Formats: sequence, structure tokens, C-alpha cells
Amino acid sequence: MLSIRIDDENTTVTNSTCQTQWTNKTSELFGIIYVSQLKHYPDFDCDKFGDRVVERISKGLQGQAVEEPTYLFGMVERGDTLFFMEQFIDGRRMVSPTIDDIEELRISNRMTANFLPSHGCIQFDKLNSVRHVIIALLYFYAVNGYKLTICKHCGRWFATKSLKELYCSKNSSFPGYERYTCGEAVKRIKDKLERKRLSEYERLHLKAMEYGVNSRHSEVFNSFCQTCSTFKAELKHGASVELLQAYKDYLYDSENVRPKYERIKNW
Ligand SMILES: [Zn+2]
Repeated sequence: MLSIRIDDENTTVTNSTCQTQWTNKTSELFGIIYVSQLKHYPDFDCDKFGDRVVERISKGLQGQAVEEPTYLFGMVERGDTLFFMEQFIDGRRMVSPTIDDIEELRISNRMTANFLPSHGCIQFDKLNSVRHVIIALLYFYAVNGYKLTICKHCGRWFATKSLKELYCSKNSSFPGYERYTCGEAVKRIKDKLERKRLSEYERLHLKAMEYGVNSRHSEVFNSFCQTCSTFKAELKHGASVELLQAYKDYLYDSENVRPKYERIKNW
């Protein structure tokens, strides 16, 4: 049997059968569950889920080996949670759950538990599946005006009250910046890349001035300016790990921005 206690900061899920508790940030929990399930079922296909269930049951009936289950909050997991989440997300990049939507989910998933009134938080007891845990969480999001969106840096789902918030509060996976949250890491990486861009800009500009407008140096300088402004325009829409890495590679490792003596030095 599971229970859940949710406030604005943290959510604690308790499994009374195995007497274990899991506490996560409320805004991150939906994304954490989703990512954990994607890791277990990387090639998951909602359309084939029903066939897999039938196949497993018939194998079981014939005494054949079936694939080992995984566990989520101490409950046996065979892809049901991911199926449920995929159906709920339904290909959207942003979900604004309403109380009516969640009420519908609650009824269709035969969730009879009601929330227990408690000061400043929502609590549900006697939940018999992870689905019900997720419905309780979605109910909290709906009641408190949270929207679910995808972090533009790490790509994970997170809950936020303002869609102006582009980045989640989980740690970045950008090499060297893992100790910062996505939002902090983006700011620091962009600052660092901007400093590098300015120093390259000055160096290439001087060369272009020295050799004149028809020189190859001018061509290199113009192409550098063009490429950097394209990267910067894209970054305004969201600084994903991949995009920042591509910009970093360009600023530090591409042919034109690297002084020749450095290339020789690195041999
Ligand atoms: Zn993130």
C-alpha cells in the first residue's frame, strides 16, 4: 500500500509494505519517474503495450519464463507506469493539468482514495498503484496552478507556476558544470562562452584590419561573426546541453578560431 504527502517543496511517497520512503522535490517528481521508466524501457511503444501484456500472460500460463519486472516505489513495474504517462502526455511539450482532467483520470483509473485535509499540503493514503501516486501528484499540480513543461537545458519534465521559467532545478549534465542546477549552469556556461567569443572576436578583428577587406582574414572574421550570431540567436530560445556543446566546440576547437601556434603546441 502506498501513501503520498505533497507540499510545495517536497513529496514523500511511502510504501507501508516494505516500510520505505522516497522524498523528492515536488516540481521534479513527475520528470524523475518518467526518466526512470524511459531508462528501464528505452524502446517502449504504447501501441505494442497491450500485445506485450497478452504475451506475458500467455507465457505465464504455459509456465514459460517471462522477463523480470523492475520496481518503482517498491511496486512491481512492467511498463504500466510509462504507458500511463505516455498516454497522459500524449505527445505534448507542455501540459497544464486542470482539476476536471485529473478528476476524470481518477475515476477512469478507479482511484477511490480522497485527499486527507492537512495544513499546507495534500496527503493521500491507501493508494494501490504507482498510477494513483502520479494522479495524486497531478492533482496537487492542478490545484496549485503548476504546469508541466520540458526543461530547455536537460530535456526533463518539471512543474512550474510560470512558463517563463525555461530551466528546471535538477543538476546540469554539461561536463564540468554538474554541481549547478540547469538554470545556474546555463548562465555560467553562456558567460564563459561570451568571454571566449569576445577574445576571439578581438583577435580576428585585428587580423582582418591588418590584412584588409579582401584578405582571407577578413573572410574568416566575417564568417566567425555570422556563426556566433546564429548560435546566440538559437540559444535565446533555449540553451540545451547539445547546443551549448556545439557552440563551445566551435569557439574552442574549430579551425578558424584557434591560433596557429596553439595547434602546433598541441602536437
Ligand atoms: Zn533541467
